[in-house]
Amino acid sequence: MNANAHPTLARLPHFAGIDASNLVARLDALLDAQRARIAALTAAGSSDWEEVVTPMEEMADELHRFFGPVSHLHNVADTDALRAVYTECVSRVSAFGAELEQNAGLCAAYQRLRAQPAFSQFDDARRKLVDNALRDFRLGGVDLPAATQAEVTRLKVELAQLAARYEENVLDASQGFSLDVDDEARLAGLPASTLAMARQKAADAGRAGWRLTLDLPSYVPAMCNLVDRELRRQLYEAYTTRASDCGPQAGSHDNSAVMHDLLTRRQQLARLLGFDNYAALSLATKMAPSPTAVVEFLEDLGRQARPAAQREVEQLRDFARTELGMDQLEAWDIAYCSEQLRRHRYQLNQEELRPYFPLPKVRAGLFEITARLFGLRFERVEGVETWHPDVEFHAVCDADGATRGYFYLDLYARAGKRSGAWMDDCLSRWQHGDDTQLPVAYLNCNFTPAQGGNPSLLTHDEVTTLFHEFGHGLHHMLTTVGRPAVAGINGVPWDAVELPSQFLENWCWEREALDLMSGHVESGQALPQALFERLDAARHFQAAMQMVRQLEFALFDFRLHRDYAPGCDIQALLDDVRAQVAVITPPRWNRFQHSFTHIFGGGYAAGYYSYKWAEVLSADAFERFTEEGIFNADTGRAFRDSILAKGGAEDALTLFRRFRGREPEVAALLRQAGLIA
Ligand SMILES: [Zn+2]
Repeated sequence: MNANAHPTLARLPHFAGIDASNLVARLDALLDAQRARIAALTAAGSSDWEEVVTPMEEMADELHRFFGPVSHLHNVADTDALRAVYTECVSRVSAFGAELEQNAGLCAAYQRLRAQPAFSQFDDARRKLVDNALRDFRLGGVDLPAATQAEVTRLKVELAQLAARYEENVLDASQGFSLDVDDEARLAGLPASTLAMARQKAADAGRAGWRLTLDLPSYVPAMCNLVDRELRRQLYEAYTTRASDCGPQAGSHDNSAVMHDLLTRRQQLARLLGFDNYAALSLATKMAPSPTAVVEFLEDLGRQARPAAQREVEQLRDFARTELGMDQLEAWDIAYCSEQLRRHRYQLNQEELRPYFPLPKVRAGLFEITARLFGLRFERVEGVETWHPDVEFHAVCDADGATRGYFYLDLYARAGKRSGAWMDDCLSRWQHGDDTQLPVAYLNCNFTPAQGGNPSLLTHDEVTTLFHEFGHGLHHMLTTVGRPAVAGINGVPWDAVELPSQFLENWCWEREALDLMSGHVESGQALPQALFERLDAARHFQAAMQMVRQLEFALFDFRLHRDYAPGCDIQALLDDVRAQVAVITPPRWNRFQHSFTHIFGGGYAAGYYSYKWAEVLSADAFERFTEEGIFNADTGRAFRDSILAKGGAEDALTLFRRFRGREPEVAALLRQAGLIA
């Protein structure tokens, strides 16, 4: 297949052409031209789709094709020059978005479109697009008096600044602490790679010995493996008091006031926009129907998981007492003892699995499995410009050869690339005039690169991560919707968007599927049955403890954003949630809330519950495959047609019901977690 095969390929970004030095000026020119075009459009007073929505789609496409690749480069191949202008660009783009949402003339054009008799004849995607747009105008404050609108804008700007300060405090506190160790014997238990990293960190700081820090690649292995209890205690204290009034850095980088400033403004914003509280505002764009439904959902899961979580803690205490000689299980012993118990019980080590998962074999298995499930074919496309020689470009085709979409596959960690794994949209499906632009996805992971002629070898966790991101990718690429705002992952509510991704992870636990994705790097032998059984047995290790911990975070987040009023005692609210669902009570000085960046820095405010909410959907959807066959092509086709194809063009619950024939059932999640049979 060559790069001129489909017109969409001519619309792919030209990464090498991105010039940081003139980015802000070019963005300003683009936005000003769009402002002028929108002013002309609203002045014309049209209620015609082609005169209102089509130009808005063209402008959204123009902006996305300009700024999307910039944002992507910032994530995968950052440079000092790009970083220097990136934040400036982001604030201009978000200010432009806020300006559109408060544009009364534009809102009136969509209202005229909505009011015309032909509206009811529009297809699902067009009706949803217009309804979403009108909702976003309302949430932007379009129908408020000018003074209130200014207040809304001011609050949004302040909220963005406060969130950034919160994150900076956490980052500074994380980097502001280190623990130097001179006696290697004290580091007993630490894996060799972590030990080498600690050695390097000390050397970088110009000293002998080893340096332990609070970044996760250092902190997590230390807490799970360090035999020295006092070292664990010191690390735990430093980590759980980051950016707070307690611990070794007490008072410096303290987020106490920032949290109150954020919460006060969030409640003010919600009230200005006509909501009782910020939790209700958050749900205005989500699948969950009401704050009560969210709290009941979480509390119900808590009631079902807590007895099992209590048993798991008891088992851990017994093990610590009998096998490790610890009479009192402290907070800083939990991860350590759990890791020892896991090894003791299952004799399983992630590293041991790596030789069975060479990347080329895993990728071939992933393609084979999804091809069988959804009737697809994958083709490598050569000659497409990327941002790094390791990046691959593939086409997703129907079995009969018709191309559905494309994806960039950027698998390896390297300098300048942010950590973690994620999927992003490069282009969305768009029926424009006589043309159809096909969807294009960016799929990004951070696996260890291939070395010395050997392929990259993945842990089972990493294999699962690849399947997860590929699920997001298929959601984006297999859409049949032609309106970009609701095609693929666009317009899908936050608490439903993890359905296809978590869903696809399930195949990583199926024997038949593992046969397709595993093959020993030397012998080519698939994952041996004995190893599979240990892996499978360990799948639900401490599942209930993990579940109640997630519920603690989710309930704290949601109740905080529902109930907060000035003077609210945040610690007391967290203590109350813990008394309700937690099975481990941390020390009085633990300040988890001061570094809960998901809800104070990122976009999860009153939305942390989404993880569990979407997990019910994905677990329940997968059960139809366990009932009908995990490679049943008819079931796969049904999932593709009713969920993957529809993107955000229809209500998420409607789509789920169409696939499952009924409402989602929480029991499916409990079964998946091994909490009920
Ligand atoms: Zn995801």
